[in-house]
Amino acid sequence: MERPLVHDYVKDTFESGRASMPDSIRILDATLTEGEQTPGVVFSSDEKLAIARKLAEAGVDAVFVGFPAVSREEKRTSKAIISEGLGFESWGLCRVLKEDIDELIDIDCDMASFIAPASRLHYEKRLKTSLEDYLVRLEELASYTLEHGIGVSLGLEDASRAEMDDVAKLSGIVRDKENCNLLITDTVGTFTPSSARYYVDQVRRFWSKPLALHFHDDFGMATANTLAAVEAGRGDYYLYLTVNGIGERCGAASLEETCAALKILYGCNIRFDLTKLMELSQLVEKYSSIPVIPTKAIVGLNAFTHETGPHVHGILIDPLTYERIPVESLGRKRRFVFGKHTGASLIRKVLEDKGIECDRESLEAILQRVKERHEKKDAEWKIKNNQIIESYHKSVEERFTLEDEVLEIARDVLKP
Ligand SMILES: [Zn+2]
Repeated sequence: MERPLVHDYVKDTFESGRASMPDSIRILDATLTEGEQTPGVVFSSDEKLAIARKLAEAGVDAVFVGFPAVSREEKRTSKAIISEGLGFESWGLCRVLKEDIDELIDIDCDMASFIAPASRLHYEKRLKTSLEDYLVRLEELASYTLEHGIGVSLGLEDASRAEMDDVAKLSGIVRDKENCNLLITDTVGTFTPSSARYYVDQVRRFWSKPLALHFHDDFGMATANTLAAVEAGRGDYYLYLTVNGIGERCGAASLEETCAALKILYGCNIRFDLTKLMELSQLVEKYSSIPVIPTKAIVGLNAFTHETGPHVHGILIDPLTYERIPVESLGRKRRFVFGKHTGASLIRKVLEDKGIECDRESLEAILQRVKERHEKKDAEWKIKNNQIIESYHKSVEERFTLEDEVLEIARDVLKP
């Protein structure tokens, strides 16, 4: 057999048994809930519906449609999304309160995702409850939910800092019940890839039903942690993701990075259509008004933009030299830009394509002029763009409602 030109160590990792793929992976999008919890972000009802439709088009398996107990408008929107019958499982958020669950029953949600703190820091110190009392309450509420024909996703908040014994006890509430899953939350983004995988291995000792993974990005590892955890193999998974990775503080594992990695690096057969990623990303960028940086993986403007001479030279011979992702798989286009780092091969190709003949000396002269032009242009552009960045940062601050405004409202309300 002819030796391949490049070696695939991801494949080796699986073939050597150091990693294995689970039985199934379902994509659970949380852009409408987690994404809206990004400080300052509010999606209108129409925007949520548009995002939900786009998620359905892309083939997402399950969607957090809302947290109906938050407001009447939120409940109306959640219900409207469910009524459209977009073909995904509808998940809704609730605290461990009967009245929150009633709202989910009311809108006919498929799955009630309990926000159930799992670390002692949360249930003992914050909620001031003992584990025993807490278990009794959860058991009652889980049974109540299931009696109404709605599934229970036991969302263990701060699970990544909870005692494994407590996780086992908490999960015991729904272990033998139908239509239940356990959602492990790394609330503060404290996992590393190997600890996430170790943790899931431990959970798998007592939990064989679907496991949902909800990891945060405080150290920039949410996507890596999600994928590493999945590599523990065994069983069925839901991966909790958001478009552009938006969410509380530094966000959560990103839908585009995780789905692209699963399909392209892992060769995993998920339903998700990668060619819809750009549209989804741009839609959420617009509605959240949070710009995607050009160097962002998968959906960044620069992902398939090349300038440097040797890179362009390589790409012209074989795109595999400097691109791991087949550009067509994302429905995107490759492009070359010209600048300080441009090499002669690209200029030659541009001229050849137009049937323009050029000797070596002229080619060198054109190249020099291109470099000079770009250096000059960039200095001017930078001044203009830095003003935009500065005003953008100011504008981000303006988005938040701050303490002074709250005090002003309070004074108005309390006015004699
Ligand atoms: Zn979260």
